[in-house]
Amino acid sequence: MKQYFVQTFGCQMNVHDSRRIEEVLRASGYREATEPALADLLVVNTCSVREKAEHKLMSLLGTFRPFKEGQRGTVLAVAGCVAQQEGERLLRKAPFVDIVLGPDNIPELPALIREVEQGAPPITRTVFDMDDPQFLRAKPQADRREVTAYVTVMKGCDERCTFCIVPYTRGSERYRPADEIVGEIQDLVSGGGREITLLGQTVNSWHEPGADAEASKSESRTAASTSRFAGLLRRISKEVPDLQRLRYTSPHPRHITPELVAAHADLDVLPAHVHLPVQSGSDRLLRRMARRYTAEDYIARTDALKRSKPGLTLSSDFIVGFPGETESDFEQTLELVRRVGFVAAFAFKYSPRPYTPALKLGDEVSEEVKDERLARLFAAVATQQSAHLQSLVGQELQVLVEGPSPGDTGRFAGRSERNEIVHLMAPEGYDPTGELVAVTIDEPYRHSLSGYMADAAGLPERGRRTRLSVLDVGGAS
Ligand code: SF4
Repeated sequence: MKQYFVQTFGCQMNVHDSRRIEEVLRASGYREATEPALADLLVVNTCSVREKAEHKLMSLLGTFRPFKEGQRGTVLAVAGCVAQQEGERLLRKAPFVDIVLGPDNIPELPALIREVEQGAPPITRTVFDMDDPQFLRAKPQADRREVTAYVTVMKGCDERCTFCIVPYTRGSERYRPADEIVGEIQDLVSGGGREITLLGQTVNSWHEPGADAEASKSESRTAASTSRFAGLLRRISKEVPDLQRLRYTSPHPRHITPELVAAHADLDVLPAHVHLPVQSGSDRLLRRMARRYTAEDYIARTDALKRSKPGLTLSSDFIVGFPGETESDFEQTLELVRRVGFVAAFAFKYSPRPYTPALKLGDEVSEEVKDERLARLFAAVATQQSAHLQSLVGQELQVLVEGPSPGDTGRFAGRSERNEIVHLMAPEGYDPTGELVAVTIDEPYRHSLSGYMADAAGLPERGRRTRLSVLDVGGAS
């Protein structure tokens, strides 16, 4: 049996795509190789959101090249956003690559491999499926229990933020029918899934394909809710009652509607945490980024989300050193961090991406200033995160256990309803994987928490009682 090895860079969307690549390969008779040297097919699934990822790709291709040129005759494929962005150009930079594959062309991979094996020259396949968008279904794995899973609801992006290459590498927005989304979630939950994260570049812009999103905004709340994102959340909550938690990533602040806020208030299945990328706290920079909201808009929407559910926390994405960012702009970002009270953040130094409008803005910020601002931003968020984690000591949190703690024998790890990572002790002989359990927090770590199951007195009957109380919780989180 032939073997494959997939190396993934970048975002959650890419991790999800890699899973689909693996499923397509397994369906055509491949099995996973334990290391690249044993593979008949090497796939590098790339990200082009930041420059570093492209450098990593070229360096990895250099590492893989000897396998390709060895006796095994390994086929080398590059997939993902760099493949889509560079197409034929990638073959000029790395002529030993056999297949360049765009994100929408994953199902064609086995046929392309056959062509290469029959002696075809290197192939580039980077065609968007605009007319008939395909959303590959995640298949529950028979050999491992997956407590959490991702389900794609839309792909592409119409926002055109000036720093971002995604609209070029993923195309315009395409939406998946609600029936298909709900069906896939039902299958995943039947297979043991307990938490689903809905996935899309601007996930909350989802609307039923064919429904006119702009027109539906002016309809009554009931009418609008049937075909837009908040309505999808309500439908999933109703039709998949065994689902414990429903998250979504990444939402755009522009699409945080009153209907979506109301869904957070009404649906227990939506946890008390939202990751809402803001990028900057300066209106001047938000305009230069073409984000289409102001800092005040953002604060109003996050305030509404906080009011929707007691204790709701927020995290965000930031870019520092965007062209023209002054000290005053950056101070406004720090002010927003304090005002919203983010408990976590992903922050990156701006790096120019090919084909993006920001390339023409000029006003480069020096690397030294970018480094200094990034450190200050991380320090501001770390202070808030640390105070937040400390405030949870002694509290009982509902934790969805995902499995054993990595590298920590005897403990399990899961996430609270606010998305904190919790490492926990369970009663001896009791495996809480896949269950929602009450955990008393006894210690904060830097980015996570430590705790013990509330019924962990070590007695087997207590473990059984915990299991019963978990079943009692039903669909609530
Ligand atoms: S919303 Fe902006 S940052 Fe997000 S994928 Fe679209 S263009 Fe990129």
